[in-house]
Amino acid sequence: MSRFIRAELHNHTNESDGSLSVKELIDYAAAQNFEVMALTDHNTVSGHLKAIREASGRNLEIIPGIELTTMFGHLLALNIGRWVDDTMLDPERPELYLRAVRHAGARLIGLAHPFCIGEPIMVGCRNSMHFRYPEELDYIEIYNCGAGDPLSGNMQALEWWEELVLQGYRIAAVSGIDLHTLPRNENVFTTYAETPDSIQVLGDEGKDAESVPRAELVMDAIMKQKTFISKGPRLSAEWKGEWLKVRLDHSSGYLGWSEEKARKSQLLLQVRQDTGREWREKLTNPDLAAVRIGPDVSHLVIRLYQDTYEDSHLLAAGVQCHLDEEAKQ
Ligand SMILES: [Zn+2]
Ligand SMILES: [Zn+2]
Repeated sequence: MSRFIRAELHNHTNESDGSLSVKELIDYAAAQNFEVMALTDHNTVSGHLKAIREASGRNLEIIPGIELTTMFGHLLALNIGRWVDDTMLDPERPELYLRAVRHAGARLIGLAHPFCIGEPIMVGCRNSMHFRYPEELDYIEIYNCGAGDPLSGNMQALEWWEELVLQGYRIAAVSGIDLHTLPRNENVFTTYAETPDSIQVLGDEGKDAESVPRAELVMDAIMKQKTFISKGPRLSAEWKGEWLKVRLDHSSGYLGWSEEKARKSQLLLQVRQDTGREWREKLTNPDLAAVRIGPDVSHLVIRLYQDTYEDSHLLAAGVQCHLDEEAKQ
């Protein structure tokens, strides 16, 4: 079994263009049971200390972050203490700017809403950087909840991320609530970070000196590509030999998801493989699926749907598996 940590990694306040004060955002986050929240105001870190102060004593951990709003795309940097001037950013060689962001202390760099047109039309929302080395990105926001469809480009982002993973790039997938004001629609994806059950999580019962803060575990999960997006079910995949096992956990309670809801739904699994094959199956057991994987497969990605394979019925995505080199020999 795994422990899943709920994280909302993209949020704004009136320190940039949001309408909520930092305190109002933290109140909302705590009421919504975010476990970890990144504060990512546009081009400023002025809210960091306020956020950390407001969250202390609550069941919420803060990752200090920033959304670097450039003319060629929006980058999210986590665990960073300052803005990094982007006037020298060359969209044909963004790796140089990414390096500067890491030098400024960023532990993780992600690309926000790569295909979002922006509302009404905002230059720079849609990514136009050419990543010759996509692995320089630690994560991609495959679902942005800020802009409504069709402006969001979310399905395009999911497809693009899946193609990169199937080419062998190790990049995590996350969603972004991109909160600027209190949301009108709360029926949106959230991000879960999977951590092994052997790790004691700070804030859980039975904690001791060995316990690790949840914010650390979320960043670690992004580094290890152990994140996914979901509207309730939580997935963990294990690929050994010719078998891929996908375990489903229905106890999150997110958006009212439950064991009962899972049993009343027809859960549909989709596994895309780097061979071009796409395997689809109706789950007879809502808790476990076993898929036989051919010997020529090295990378795969998993989606879960409810009742039909339509975009609007997507329940979870972003789970990836790679054949490790040792297992090949
Ligand atoms: Zn943005
Ligand atoms: Zn944003």
